[in-house]
Amino acid sequence: MARRRISILGATGSIGQNTIDLIKRDLPAYEVIALTGAGNIAQLAADARVLNAQVAVTADESRLDDLRDALAGSGIAAAAGQAALSEAAARPADWVMSAIVGAAGLAPGIVALQQGATLALANKESLVCAGSLILETARQHNARLLPVDSEHSAIFQALVGEDMAAVERIVITASGGAFRDWPLDDLPNATLAQASSHPNWDMGQRITIDSASMFNKALEVIETREYFGVSPDKIEVLVHPESMIHALVGFHDGALMAHVGPPDMRHAIGYALHWPERRVLPVERLDLAAIGSLTFRAPDMARWPALRLAREVMARGGLAGAVFNAAKETALDGFIAGNLAFTAMAEIVEEVLTQMDASGGHIDASMTLDNVAAADHLARMAARDIIEKRAG
Ligand code: NDP
Ligand code: MG
Repeated sequence: MARRRISILGATGSIGQNTIDLIKRDLPAYEVIALTGAGNIAQLAADARVLNAQVAVTADESRLDDLRDALAGSGIAAAAGQAALSEAAARPADWVMSAIVGAAGLAPGIVALQQGATLALANKESLVCAGSLILETARQHNARLLPVDSEHSAIFQALVGEDMAAVERIVITASGGAFRDWPLDDLPNATLAQASSHPNWDMGQRITIDSASMFNKALEVIETREYFGVSPDKIEVLVHPESMIHALVGFHDGALMAHVGPPDMRHAIGYALHWPERRVLPVERLDLAAIGSLTFRAPDMARWPALRLAREVMARGGLAGAVFNAAKETALDGFIAGNLAFTAMAEIVEEVLTQMDASGGHIDASMTLDNVAAADHLARMAARDIIEKRAG
C-alpha cells in the first residue's frame, strides 16, 4: 500500500510533538514530507532525522546555518523563512497538521489547502482571523478541513450522522484555567509562572496563559461559529474543572450528546489522522466509577471579560476576528515580557477593537489574505502603542 504523505507545520511544539508521537508508532505507514519549527532547531533536526523527512524548515531565517549544521550528512534539505514555510506547505501531501501557534499559521495552512491536502487544524487562529477564507479555499480545492482542537473534535464526533438543522445548541467546556478559583482582587498580580501552569492539560505556554484568561475559549467560541456555521446565540461556554467532557451538542429532541475522554490531545490528533476510521490510540481509558463525579458551573463574566469580547467580535463580523486575535497576541507578548498586568490584556484588546472600529475601513475590508494581514498589522501597532503609553 502506498505510504501516506504527511507534513507537520509547527512540529516542534506541543501539538506537533504529540502528532510525531503517533506517527512514530507506525512509521512505515508514512512518508514524511516536511517538518517545520522556529527556535527549537535541535528538536526539529532530530525529528527530521528519525522521520526521514524530505525537508526541515525553520521560520527563523537567522537560524538557517544552525539547521544546516544539525542536519549535516542526513540528506534532508534545510530551509528558513516565511517563503520556505509556504514552499514546505505546498509540497504535495495527503495530510498536513497545522500546528503553528498564532496568526503565523494562517498563510501556510491556506497553501496546504490549495494543494488539496487534508488539513488537520490545530491552529484555531486561522479560523478566527479568516474563517470564510479558509472554508472557501478548502471548497475550491476540494480539500478537507478536520478539527484538532479538543472541543471541536468532540463536536465533530458528536455530529457524525446528524442533521445540522436538528442542532439546538453547542456547549464547549472550559477548565477555567489557572485562576478559576482565585479571588478577583488577586488577578492583577498574577505572575507569568502562575499563569503558565494549567490544572489539567499540558500545552504550549501561550495557549496555557490564554486558558487562564479565557482568551483561548473566546477564540474557540469564534472557531465553533466559523467551523460549524452555527449562529453565536447557539454557542455556550460551560466551566467544567475536570476537563473530561470536551463539548456537548444539544438537539431539538432534547438529547445532549457529550464527548468524554481524558485530557490528552493525542485523541483529537489521532481522530483527525485516521478519520473517517477509528484506530486504536494510546490514550488512557477513563474509569468513571473511580472519578466519581464531574462538576459544572456557569462562567463568571467578571473574571473572564474575553468571553464578552468574543460575542462582540462575532456581532461585529468582517475582519474583527483578525483584529481581536492580533491585539490578543500582542497583549500576550506584553504580559510574557513583564510589561503588562494579567488583567490588562483584556483591556488592551477591548481598546484596540474600539479604536479600529471607530477608525473604520479595515474591519469592513473584504476577506482576502492581504486585508487580513493589514488588519492584523494595524491591530498589533495599535496594541503596542497603547501598551507603551500605559508604561510611559
Ligand atoms: P507551541 O508553542 O507548543 O508550538 C508552536 C509551534 O509553532 C512550534 O513548532 C514553534 O516552533 C512554531 N512557531 C512559533 N512561532 C512561529 C512563527 N512565527 N512562525 C512559524 N512557526 C512558529 O504551541 P502549541 O503546540 O500548544 O499550539 C499550536 C497550535 O495548536 C495553536 O494554535 C494552539 O492554539 C493550538 N492548540 C493547541 C493545543 C495544545 O494542547 N497544545 C490544544 C488545542 C489547540 P519552535 O517551538 O521551534 O519555536
Ligand atoms: Mg481547545
